[in-house]
Amino acid sequence: MTTFPISGGCICGSVRYTVKGPANCVVHCHCSQCRHGFASLVVTGATIDLNQMKIDKGEENLTTCTIPSGVRRQFCRTCGCSLFYFDDKFPEVMFYYPATLDGGMHPGHAKEAEHHVFVESKADWEAFEDNLPRHAKGVGIAALGKSE
Ligand SMILES: [Zn+2]
Ligand SMILES: [Zn+2]
Repeated sequence: MTTFPISGGCICGSVRYTVKGPANCVVHCHCSQCRHGFASLVVTGATIDLNQMKIDKGEENLTTCTIPSGVRRQFCRTCGCSLFYFDDKFPEVMFYYPATLDGGMHPGHAKEAEHHVFVESKADWEAFEDNLPRHAKGVGIAALGKSE
């Protein structure tokens, strides 16, 4: 099991961050905007409460872009690595890309808090086989936020 805090950062090392606690939820997104934005068939995001993230360095090196869905994505302007995103529909939480954690670390979420989302938008040739829940569209704050 993951011991917190854990750290991650961009490819070039300009931006480094520390996560203080486990992700509330992890989503593997199959939507077309993630597909184009990352040049990848699926993109994995993790939600945490805002106070669980600390940017250790390089915040000034982050560029923010708003994509058509309204999501604000932040990436390193030196190496292009995507690190964080914010969705005004879910102001209680922020998202980070757990694939940017050092050493492929597990973001610490509960097994049942991992979902495939926007499966209805996936590329026809994308095949995936696992037992995780699949949602045609997204999941709500009940899944994204901490359930206490
Ligand atoms: Zn970078
Ligand atoms: Zn997406």
